Amino acid sequence: MRLIEQKRKDSIYLYFLAKGQRKYLGKPDKINQEKAKEALILLDTQITEYKSFRNKIEKYLYGKHEIEIKDSEYKMIFFDMDGVLFEKPWQESKSRKVAISSWDLLFKKLGQYDIYEALKKNFENGLYGDDVDSYVKWKEATCKTLKIIPLKEKTFQEVIDSRILSRGAKELFQILKKSKIKTAIITGSFYRLAQRAQKELDEVNHVRAHCRLFFDDNGLLKRWELNKTDYNHKIEIMEELALKEGIIDKNGHPDLNQCVYVGDDVNDLEAFGAAGLAIAFNSQKSIVKKAADIIIVGGDLTEILSPLFDFEMDKEKISFYVSKDVKDEWLNFAKTKDYSTLPDFIMKIIEFYIKEERASLKNIE
Ligand SMILES: [Mg+2]
Repeated sequence: MRLIEQKRKDSIYLYFLAKGQRKYLGKPDKINQEKAKEALILLDTQITEYKSFRNKIEKYLYGKHEIEIKDSEYKMIFFDMDGVLFEKPWQESKSRKVAISSWDLLFKKLGQYDIYEALKKNFENGLYGDDVDSYVKWKEATCKTLKIIPLKEKTFQEVIDSRILSRGAKELFQILKKSKIKTAIITGSFYRLAQRAQKELDEVNHVRAHCRLFFDDNGLLKRWELNKTDYNHKIEIMEELALKEGIIDKNGHPDLNQCVYVGDDVNDLEAFGAAGLAIAFNSQKSIVKKAADIIIVGGDLTEILSPLFDFEMDKEKISFYVSKDVKDEWLNFAKTKDYSTLPDFIMKIIEFYIKEERASLKNIE
């Protein structure tokens, strides 16, 4: 299947080659609508076919199994957004690659990343106090800075649009929609990005986001609303929403034991402690991985389904796309080592396997 642009004299002629046929599509500025639509349909069919091949090969390669939707012991899942529903962009720092948030990304785009780093340092050093509200003061200072810079709505929207949904996010929500499990996003990021997630994912039941920005008629940042949705406050929201969904214990109190929390960073630690099942998704931080019941590495969000529906699973520490016995070996390896980044961990595991392989070859000799 090919699109050919043939140049003759001063004109360009477009042809679409498919299934041994050559279709003339017209000139770029005078396209044959009918033929072009036909070509699009052909392409779509081919893409669907390729996708199904891809799924099949993936299934053979990684042993991915179809998830059977049964009743789960969990009634609700709370998702963090940055790094969980949306991939975190990577940035080269002095010593290693680190994942960055939407806030980082915005300041980078504005060419003012140093300012944001300074604000973040202030927060980490306790300059905004050490109570549960301190992060709100940090973000208040951050928004004031954005107004001074000033932030244009167009720039902000570009950052929102640039974020990429995590692999498997769409599939996951399609599957969850078929189950009885309720879903919610609780994020310390931007309301507008959460809105995008809600629009693009099938049925997110609740959304709570930290920062909502408002722009004036000239498209410049005018004011902002900061909601308490991060750190400790994530628990309050989980309780509020669980209650709303009738997930309660025998005394009528919200029962977070029947809830799952999926997060990736230190601002999720409190929520991890409160949820019945804490899942660390693609986390780079050992403190986060240690606090989780399950660690998912590899970036496919549908991986969280197996602990939800697989009754045989006794809380695995690592979920990989590998066969059970390899997984057990890796698990053992992971238990005794602690690497802060995924690339680090993978490198060490490869080294470990090369060594093992060589050892077995030596034995044969
Ligand atoms: Mg996050």
